[in-house]
Amino acid sequence: MGQEGRLTPAVPGFRGNKAGLPSKPCVQCGRTMTWRRAWAKNWADVKYCSDRCRAQAR
Ligand SMILES: [Zn+2]
Repeated sequence: MGQEGRLTPAVPGFRGNKAGLPSKPCVQCGRTMTWRRAWAKNWADVKYCSDRCRAQAR
């Protein structure tokens, strides 16, 4: 009889809930911004993580 300690430690989606959402870096500060529902319509045009970065870019 062998005791197999073959437990599966990997729990998919435990800490990676955001994995399914797209993300890209802010062109101003480089911070990764994760897709927001508010950006659903213009995600392709989103370049800055916040209005602050947008203001600094100008
Ligand atoms: Zn930014």
